[in-house]
Formats: sequence, structure tokens, C-alpha cells
Amino acid sequence: MILVSGKEVSNKIKDEIALEVEKLKSNGGKTPHLAAVLVGDDGASRTYVNAKVKACERVGFGSTLVQLDNDISEADLLAEIDQLNNNDEIDGFIVQLPLPNHIDEQKVTEAINPAKDVDGFHPVSLGKMLLHLPSFLPATPYGIVEMLRHYNIPTEGKHCVVLGRSHIVGSPMSVLMARKDYPGNCTVTLAHSRTQNLKEVAASADILIVAIGKPEFVTADMVKEGATVIDVGIHRVEDSSKKSGFKLLGDVKFDEVAPKCSHISPVPGGVGPMTIASLLKNTLLAVQLKN
Ligand code: NAP
Repeated sequence: MILVSGKEVSNKIKDEIALEVEKLKSNGGKTPHLAAVLVGDDGASRTYVNAKVKACERVGFGSTLVQLDNDISEADLLAEIDQLNNNDEIDGFIVQLPLPNHIDEQKVTEAINPAKDVDGFHPVSLGKMLLHLPSFLPATPYGIVEMLRHYNIPTEGKHCVVLGRSHIVGSPMSVLMARKDYPGNCTVTLAHSRTQNLKEVAASADILIVAIGKPEFVTADMVKEGATVIDVGIHRVEDSSKKSGFKLLGDVKFDEVAPKCSHISPVPGGVGPMTIASLLKNTLLAVQLKN
């Protein structure tokens, strides 16, 4: 069994981006700048945003954190987005999800200038992805594709089962795995809560990508011998034996599934760091597409 270390791959990608930034700067170009909008004070969202800002420092990007109150109106948030759209210093920005219930996430996503949509959630980005045109790929599926590439995991002609059909992970993942490219060229099954015989469907996968949002949902009996398993899930679960008081679990029961796999990504240290690396890659692309 080979551990698919997103931590390792993302560090390599960050080193490559840092070199590109050095080159850009020495040629008199602009320092790439990423902004992140955080609404409210959700602990997990804050942790994710802080990690993104820290990653910017690591590769030599500029970064801006726009912190807004939980009770900000939708109109005021849209006005903030308009400012970022029109600020030439900002090459790309993200609005950390989820947003408070009184704000329409889709409306917010669609308000982002597609040229700065480095999360890749705007309909224009998703449409370009479908047509295989240069675009910002949604950060998590993009990161997974790059992990498969790094480990030379064969995909052509394989059966890839994606568990979960969210707009940000499962659905775009299924599109990328079906594209006429490497990694891709898979026969894809997109499974969800209405799928019948989910166990059998999952167990028929050569490549199983799990984004279901349920801790340790995938057990050994749902995995084919020799499969590649990519675990997108991330859950904080109380654990009094840890100094922090919690541990992180994925959507896959790692200990029992890992021995059956040819490759498996762990949680933490798998998909999570890759998502951030992809965001940085997209921000660099935003700068390159402008020139
Ligand atoms: P989501 O929006 O909650 O979607 C979950 C999907 O799983 C839905 O399509 C749902 O089906 C399906 N599902 C739920 N229960 C199921 C069941 N019992 N059987 C079959 N399908 C079921 O989740 P998401 O945003 O894609 O996130 C999934 C997980 O990945 C979460 O743990 C999240 O925290 C994590 N995540 C991690 C990263 C990272 O960077 N590591 C990034 C994004 C998300 P329906 O569509 O039928 O409801």
C-alpha cells in the first residue's frame, strides 16, 4: 500500500510556485495577490482561511483577509465583492463557505468576477472546465487530479466511482475523471444518497473518491482489493487523549481500508493540503492569464 501524501505533493507544488513568483518579480512583474473573505467567526472556517493566508506567505504572494461580521447583509457583502472585483491589486479572491443562512451562496458565487474566481465555483469556470478550456478548476478536485498525476496512478479505462455529488467536490470531480486526458479517461459513476446498492457500486471501483461528509462511512467491505482510495472528508471528532481535545477523521475508515488498497490518501495530510496548493496555482494562473 502506498500512502498518497498530499502534504508532500503540496510542498513540491508550493516550491514550484515560489520559483515562478521569484521569476515574475525579477522580470519586473507584479506580485500575485490573493484575498480571502471570511464572514462570521466559525472556528473551522477561520482555520481554513488562516491556512490559506499562511500558504500565500510561504510562496511569496501578497494576501488580504477581509473579515466581516456574521450579521452583514447580503447587499453589503455583494458590495465588498464588487470592490474586490475592481481592485487591480487583487488577482484572485475567495469567499469562504459556508455563509450564514441569510445570505444566498449562489448569488455571492455568481457576483465574483470570473477572471478572479480562483476557487473555480463560478458558472463560467465550471462551464470552461466541462469544455476542457483553460480555466480555474475547483480547488479540491484539481488537487486530487494533481495527486493522481504525481503518483502516476493509472486512470485510463479504469472505473472511477465518486461518492458525493456536491457542486464543489463530487460533481466537478466526476467531470475531470471522465475528461479525455491524463488523469482521466475513466468510466465514471457518480453516486449519491439515492444510489441503490451503494456498497456494491463502491466495491466495483478501481479508483474510489469519497466526498460524502460522514465520518468513517467507507468500510473495508466497500473497497475492491488493489483499489486507489482518495478520502476528501474531514471531521473534527472529540478525543480527550489529544492535547487539542479533538482528532481529525475522514470519510473512510482508514485502518481497515488501507491494507486492501494500492494507494490511499490519509486524513489529515491528504486532500486538505492539496486544496490549498490548487488555490495558489489558480491565483498564479489568474496573473498569467492577465498578461
Ligand atoms: P456535501 O455538500 O454535504 O455533499 C455530500 C454528498 O454526499 C451529497 O451529494 C450527498 O448526496 C452524498 N451523501 C450523503 N450521505 C450519503 C449516503 N449515506 N450515501 C450516499 N451518498 C450520500 O459535501 P461536500 O461539500 O462535497 O464535502 C464532503 C466532505 O468533504 C465533507 O466532510 C467536507 O468537510 C469535506 N471537504 C474537504 C475539503 C478538503 O479540502 N479536504 C474540501 C471540501 C470538502 P445528495 O446529493 O443526494 O444529498
